[in-house]
Amino acid sequence: MNKYIFVTGGVCSSLGKGVAAASLGSLLECRGLTVRMIKVDPYINVDAGTMSPYQHGEVYVTDDGAETDLDLGNYARFTASTLSRANSITTGQIYQEVIRREREGRYLGRTVQVIPHITDRIKQRIRAVGDEAGVHATIVEVGGTVGDIESYPFLEAVRQMIHELGKKNVLAVHLTLIPEVANGELKTKPTQHSVKELREIGIQPDVLLCRAPEQLPEDMRRKIALFTNVDVDGVISAYDIKSTLYEIPLMYHQQGLDSICLSRLEMEIPEADLSGWERVVSVVTGSSQVVRIAVVGKYIELSDSYKSVDEALIHGGIANDSRVQLIKVDSEKIERGEIDPEKVFAEIDGILVPGGFGSRGIDGMVRTAEYARTRGIPYFGICLGMQIMVIEFARNVLGLNGADSTEFVPDCQNPVVSLLEEQIDVKNYGGTMRLGRSASRLLPDTLIRSVYGEEIIYERHRHRYEVSNSYRQRLNESGLTTGGVTEDSSLVESLEWAGHPWGLGVQFHPEFISRPADAHPLFREFIGASIRYRGQRSGVVGET
Ligand code: GLN
Repeated sequence: MNKYIFVTGGVCSSLGKGVAAASLGSLLECRGLTVRMIKVDPYINVDAGTMSPYQHGEVYVTDDGAETDLDLGNYARFTASTLSRANSITTGQIYQEVIRREREGRYLGRTVQVIPHITDRIKQRIRAVGDEAGVHATIVEVGGTVGDIESYPFLEAVRQMIHELGKKNVLAVHLTLIPEVANGELKTKPTQHSVKELREIGIQPDVLLCRAPEQLPEDMRRKIALFTNVDVDGVISAYDIKSTLYEIPLMYHQQGLDSICLSRLEMEIPEADLSGWERVVSVVTGSSQVVRIAVVGKYIELSDSYKSVDEALIHGGIANDSRVQLIKVDSEKIERGEIDPEKVFAEIDGILVPGGFGSRGIDGMVRTAEYARTRGIPYFGICLGMQIMVIEFARNVLGLNGADSTEFVPDCQNPVVSLLEEQIDVKNYGGTMRLGRSASRLLPDTLIRSVYGEEIIYERHRHRYEVSNSYRQRLNESGLTTGGVTEDSSLVESLEWAGHPWGLGVQFHPEFISRPADAHPLFREFIGASIRYRGQRSGVVGET
């Protein structure tokens, strides 16, 4: 029987449920088990594709082109779970599927209701992933906070699964907050209320992860256990980690989270090997070398907007035995003259321009790319960041007036980035975004080919506009070299500045597949180049 672990959240949002679920998944993998991860999002959007990064953080893209919640990125960084469209479930999808079946007459005249039709569909979707042969445990993170109206159908499905499969096959983990009040006292009352609310729905949690500024004293854990009916060894202190996210699996392991879960599920408890996480943490916390990377974009106020990019940069640092300091720069402020590039980039070792949509902040990014190109600062452009390289080069080197992307200026004089002819024809029907994993061919004697060491590579895409082929030759001849193309050579996948120490852009998103102990080669080499640049700039290699 495959096992299920549900992770719910109480008291308030943003307590780190995604990382907690991913850490538990990783701990089970460290004991040799095969794990699957699922995110359930109670919102009515069918997927995260249309959601603003300001509101919801990054959109994470899977191989099969699903646009999902950023927690899937956490799962990808912490675990080896396969991740596809099947692993991201929203209320919108469930209702869409149930309504489609109703229209097809599949409910044979019955009244279609939340219970059983919606809850059945939720359970089917979860079990379609978790019942796969060879999977030992499936961790399902239920988004939102217990008590939210929209979470009810999902929590009811959890209750039913516990009832149907039995307590030894389904485990309920609840993440709550133990706030500190003005006099420094820790308060358990919100946790008591949150568990009460969960029990009213019919779910008795087996494990509580209690977020608190510090380790909970033993007597407080006993008190929480008594009030919530959870065994005291199941009351875990999820205390604040100051150094790095990647210490969280170790923090949970030290308190026995993984063995408690396995023993409640009546599973064997194989030896755990945490050496991978220990190595990662020792570099992130211990290295004396620091490299400063500027991320220049427009969604910078929200710390999660470029989550996978930020993490991939840290991975690149780990691969180079270096810590990475991220400096977020608002491209609109450069554009408006509120930030002087000379000043902000003076102490910077490398510049990254990430993906994005819409015209705001574009000129600030173009100025950034120009600065990096002309000063020989390592530059890494991702998706929009590569299109920015094209616009900058066309304007400043080819001298093309009004060189732009038709995304920003539809009738620009020189559309160096634009929609393809076929896309223009079908524009009104949507579905023109290039999404998901596809192959690129890397050309000989290019920087990118040397980074990957391979000719054919597979990366994930999420964009609509392309480098215009009518300008390709002119750009190439003047020093913006094509490094990669689609397999049929029809589209540009990567560009680089000839003669520059490290200036490269890619149309795809390598950040989605980078892992802490296995950095994506582009991030590894970008950070390596930034460390070298730092050495030249200061005359001392990488000193703090
Ligand atoms: N807005 C650009 C496009 O649609 C770039 C997209 C991105 O950076 N993900 O092509």
